[in-house]
Amino acid sequence: MPYSTKEKHAAHSKKYRDANPMRVKAWVDKSKRGIRMAAYQHYSGEVPFCACCGETTWEFLCIDHIEGNGRKHRMTIGGDIAPWLKKNGYPSGFQVLCHNCNMAKGMYGECPHKTKEYNVVDTPRNFGQESRAAKLTDSDVLAIQFLYSQKQGSYRELAKRFSVSYTTIAHVVNHASWKHVRRSKHPILNGTEDG
Ligand SMILES: [Zn+2]
Ligand SMILES: [Zn+2]
Repeated sequence: MPYSTKEKHAAHSKKYRDANPMRVKAWVDKSKRGIRMAAYQHYSGEVPFCACCGETTWEFLCIDHIEGNGRKHRMTIGGDIAPWLKKNGYPSGFQVLCHNCNMAKGMYGECPHKTKEYNVVDTPRNFGQESRAAKLTDSDVLAIQFLYSQKQGSYRELAKRFSVSYTTIAHVVNHASWKHVRRSKHPILNGTEDG
């Protein structure tokens, strides 16, 4: 009995998969990652970040069910959520979190970032690009924000001191881009209460 074209094709692909397991695995991984990245970008931004702490390292990120019940949902769809989201036209009710924030939310109902004094503010979508472009370190940013708030430097004076443009200083002082910097953790801001 002759094989149909479909059977021939299936036999041929099986032969190829058996002969090239690493190549097939790499292809599958890449396509899975692409689907996951598309979900991150849909629910976050062009540079995806944790909606709680601003983490941008994509390997640390995951999709969070905003209202909870993630485990139950995962069991009903039986596996990775990203392909399911794609298939269902990216429904609302999901966000991007890092695994830390996601885990803490799952275990304690709320991430400690929300209840403790971390001063972590929502990070805008493009902060990574902007901070690189501006050539300022987080310490510089903290210093500029602090000095300006303490009236210890005008825009022009700070621009000169940090060798950046007037516009950059204005941006740092006013723009939410820089609020990912943790004020409470920085030495410049410690001990300022005395003087
Ligand atoms: Zn996080
Ligand atoms: Zn958090």
